[in-house]
Amino acid sequence: MRVLITGAAGFLGSHLAERFLKEGHEVIGLDNFVTGSRENSAALEAYDGFRLIEHDISDSIFLDEDLDGVLHFASPASPVDYLEIPIQTLKVGSRGTQNALGISLAKGARFFLASTSEVYGDPLVHPQPETYWGNVNPIGVRGCYDEAKRFAEAMTMAYHRHHGVDTRIVRIFNTYGPRMRPGDGRVVSNFIVQALRGDPLSIYGDGEQTRSFCYVDDEVDGIFRLFHSERTEPTNIGNPNEFTIKELAEVVLEETGSTSVLERLPLPQDDPKVRKPDIRVAREVLGWEPQVQLREGIRRTIPFFEAELVRHDAKARTI
Ligand code: UDP
Repeated sequence: MRVLITGAAGFLGSHLAERFLKEGHEVIGLDNFVTGSRENSAALEAYDGFRLIEHDISDSIFLDEDLDGVLHFASPASPVDYLEIPIQTLKVGSRGTQNALGISLAKGARFFLASTSEVYGDPLVHPQPETYWGNVNPIGVRGCYDEAKRFAEAMTMAYHRHHGVDTRIVRIFNTYGPRMRPGDGRVVSNFIVQALRGDPLSIYGDGEQTRSFCYVDDEVDGIFRLFHSERTEPTNIGNPNEFTIKELAEVVLEETGSTSVLERLPLPQDDPKVRKPDIRVAREVLGWEPQVQLREGIRRTIPFFEAELVRHDAKARTI
């Protein structure tokens, strides 16, 4: 197969591209490097089957090659990023998704949308099954991301129903692991970088809000299986083990052996109070469930950030 992956130099995009390459497929990676990294694309350039195009998928593009799949992973995904670049975030979820769908339609290629648990907003149903429509504030500061992804889902379903495009939609829950930028701003990278540097760990609010963290290899395996499945409805892929942010801080301190203190910062607007995927569909339809639990995943992630901090004087990024 030959697939196009938008956002291939990003955290998830690069792991996914590598999975396709390792399985013997060709990958055309597209990235504008707004939040993607040159290190990630360099790791992919080591494979013969990889080609990089530097381009913003929010602007249209014509490709000569035949394609079997188009996987749309380009988007800022860290709140710190999308609060800084809300309009680019809205554009890549709307115009970017339409451009990527247009390529799928023209090439007769399967389309795969990277959607998010953020479509559930600050959920009133817990855990969140795919049938839940969500509780999103469209005009709040997170609306640029949440609504862009909700629009992207609607656009994907319209191309599926109206043009017969073969589509898949994954709803990705909090994912972490090697290749996140030290300054990504999400909680796992922030806490590990802060712990390794001896800086205080930035707890937003009282730290009693929960998230359910999925190790990147598990997430990519679920995505890969969904791509090859016949399921067109959105599918949750995430680890259902739920932790408070304070519990996560404890695990990071124990695993790094750090003596950093905890520092309380204001809770950002509309920060969801709880989040946990219902993964019954993924279990039943894909035979998938996460294998790496939080402590083990944190253990596997720490050496990556240690190496990053040796290479450059990187810091965590808080809101
Ligand atoms: N958070 C925190 N300290 C940080 C970064 C995040 O306490 O330095 C909290 C944040 O308020 C949220 C959770 O951790 O409740 C997850 O935040 P993240 O930015 O990783 O992703 P989100 O799930 O909010 O999209």
